[in-house]
Amino acid sequence: MPDISIVIPVYNEEKNIYKLHERLTDIIQKMQLSYEFVFVNDGSRDNSLNLVKGLASTDPHIRFIDFSRNFGHQVAVTAGLDHCKGDAVVIIDSDLQDPPELIAEMYSKMKEGYEVVYAKRKSRAGENFLKKFTAKVFYRLLAKITSVEIPVDTGDFRIMNKKIVEVLKQMPEQQKYLRGQIPWIGFRQTYVEYDRDERHAGETGYTYRKMLRFAMDGITSFSTAPLKFATASGFAVSFISFIWIIYALFARFIIRDYVPGWTSIMIAVLFIGGVQLICIGIIGEYISRMSANIRNRPLYVIRETNVE
Ligand code: UDP
Ligand code: MG
Repeated sequence: MPDISIVIPVYNEEKNIYKLHERLTDIIQKMQLSYEFVFVNDGSRDNSLNLVKGLASTDPHIRFIDFSRNFGHQVAVTAGLDHCKGDAVVIIDSDLQDPPELIAEMYSKMKEGYEVVYAKRKSRAGENFLKKFTAKVFYRLLAKITSVEIPVDTGDFRIMNKKIVEVLKQMPEQQKYLRGQIPWIGFRQTYVEYDRDERHAGETGYTYRKMLRFAMDGITSFSTAPLKFATASGFAVSFISFIWIIYALFARFIIRDYVPGWTSIMIAVLFIGGVQLICIGIIGEYISRMSANIRNRPLYVIRETNVE
């Protein structure tokens, strides 16, 4: 069993693999630990897989898992966790935005008696305003509406011990939101701060669409606040409607002022219709995730691997 496993999801990172391998090897060897790298190729369309396999043929520390298609970052990390054997496990991006050198600090912090040490972003270089802004707002909103204490400005770059990985393997949900699941597990968790670097090369694999789905997974997995919002707005609208009805009856029978009320009817119908649609949509988000879990499909399909 190696002292440390490094789990590395890879999606179109051909320009980063060698550099990453070099910097990781450097730091881990300085730390004098036995180690393995678990590269998970998440359906890359470039040459990433061949580069990883090439490295694996010369470096016996390399394990790789090749997915049959793109299953998404969180699933790739999950597959890595399922197949790694180390006493400590690190999750790290392959684009060098997470500096490998920080692993030394995280490892020694863990040795002070923590099960998880996550890396908190003090700053983020090379990312546009919209990404930074939406991330900032999202992490704070999520922290407000969950009962689990999910740390803000924290990605998946972290180190954890085997105990945590074993619990994660027992969490069967299809929508993985590891940065929430890991705090949910508990034990002693702490963080170190770092400045997030720019991508070494290549482009982000997280489109806005993927980010939005990821955010919805995080919210629906850890909070029922949207459902409560649906209920509350239902009550609020019913209350307003009730007053409106009283007024309508009053106007019709007491003051006998019943000019054709087209405007008010339209407003009422549209308003209530809108609220209903929002509420049904919110419920739908939860139901779609429930049905994905009931189908209970395997989370990923492996084409090829050298993990025994
Ligand atoms: N990634 C992946 N599958 C995807 C998208 C991304 O495995 O569908 C990997 C990617 O190779 C990288 C990590 O997940 O190692 C983070 O992705 P990226 O750097 O594209 O996201 P960003 O840092 O821009 O949020
Ligand atoms: Mg990145």
